[in-house]
Amino acid sequence: MTSMRLDRPDARGRFGEFGGTFAPETLMPALDELAGAFTEAWGDEEFVAEYRRMLSDFVGRPTPLHLAGRLSESLGVRILLKREDLAHTGAHKINNAIGQGLLAKRMGKPRVIAETGAGQHGVATATAAAVLGLECQVFMGSVDIERQALNVLRMEILGTEVVPVTSGAGTLKDAVSEAMREWVKSVESTHYIIGSVVGPHPFPWMVREFQKVIGEEVLDQIGSDLPDIVVACVGGGSNAMGMFYPLAGLGIDLVGIEAAGEGIATGRHGASIGAGSPGVLHGTHTYMLQDEEGQVLEAHSISAGLDYPGVGPEHAYFHQSGLARYESITDEEALDGVELLARTEGIIPALESAHAVAWVAREAGSLQGKTVLINLSGRGDKDVEQIGRARAGR
Ligand SMILES: *Cc1c(COP(=O)(O)O)cnc(C)c1O
Repeated sequence: MTSMRLDRPDARGRFGEFGGTFAPETLMPALDELAGAFTEAWGDEEFVAEYRRMLSDFVGRPTPLHLAGRLSESLGVRILLKREDLAHTGAHKINNAIGQGLLAKRMGKPRVIAETGAGQHGVATATAAAVLGLECQVFMGSVDIERQALNVLRMEILGTEVVPVTSGAGTLKDAVSEAMREWVKSVESTHYIIGSVVGPHPFPWMVREFQKVIGEEVLDQIGSDLPDIVVACVGGGSNAMGMFYPLAGLGIDLVGIEAAGEGIATGRHGASIGAGSPGVLHGTHTYMLQDEEGQVLEAHSISAGLDYPGVGPEHAYFHQSGLARYESITDEEALDGVELLARTEGIIPALESAHAVAWVAREAGSLQGKTVLINLSGRGDKDVEQIGRARAGR
């Protein structure tokens, strides 16, 4: 196989045939300005040094690479965990929020906005805004506000205004649309912090650049003893791409795990690559869940972070070119993954991350003697109530 990862998308913002800029005319100047500002900042040693300093002193990087002894023993597979759950705020999302927050300041924009579903990206953005002295508004569906009261409170304590979105179903897709509308109105003063490797160019590329620290740290930590397989869960795909990009082309089997939800056959899942098809979603050409007429379908997953009907365009490229492969895990399997990791390693993983753990457990028979690295994207404190409800219902 001769496929190569692409250091950056082409002049039209594409990774092969995927990506691009499918955005309203009114947003084009803002996206151009952003692409220019990011390119310039990322080439400036001082900006990069400030970003690295924030990652070490504020986020707590590098996160450890942990040999999971008891889990390895129980599965007969040597398992390493990249501990993104130990990053400040409990997941990888802060790496990107800090990067984009610093960029907003550099662009002279005193205000940031973001969309959030379960509230994880909202909390990361509110945290970055607080430490960097930026004004912050987070758009959140009114239904999600009800469901995620704790994260709403977190954001408010951090000084962020949570704006309820009542249009549509009152969930993530509607919050994205509202945040986009607000950005068009206020682009002079405002930067829009997208939370994953999705959206129009330059977001997928920029967010990957801010997340690739994960895989780069692994290369430093592991020396020449490369793992055979690397596994990461895929919602929009930022923790997975942050891990995969630096490791692509080194002969490692890269495996992205999508949400099979209640089972692919039920139609209630979030497997955009595994069971979707190419189309345009939120400004980018990528794999997505859609009906015959191209209408976006609702995704379903027990984990809010994987409950998205699309995937970042660079993953679509990795899939098509064979740089990575994509599998899926059901809600039930993920719940078993939570308990397995909790009881063997004393770590309660996020439901998202538990998908990666569960895949290794399911496939252990064919992985004997191999070294498998799991990207543990976040901790499960946010999910304990939901895990408790699911246990009670079993
Ligand atoms: C948001 C989230 C994800 C999914 O987002 P990606 O962009 O696919 O990484 C995965 N794990 C955790 C812990 C999250 O909070």
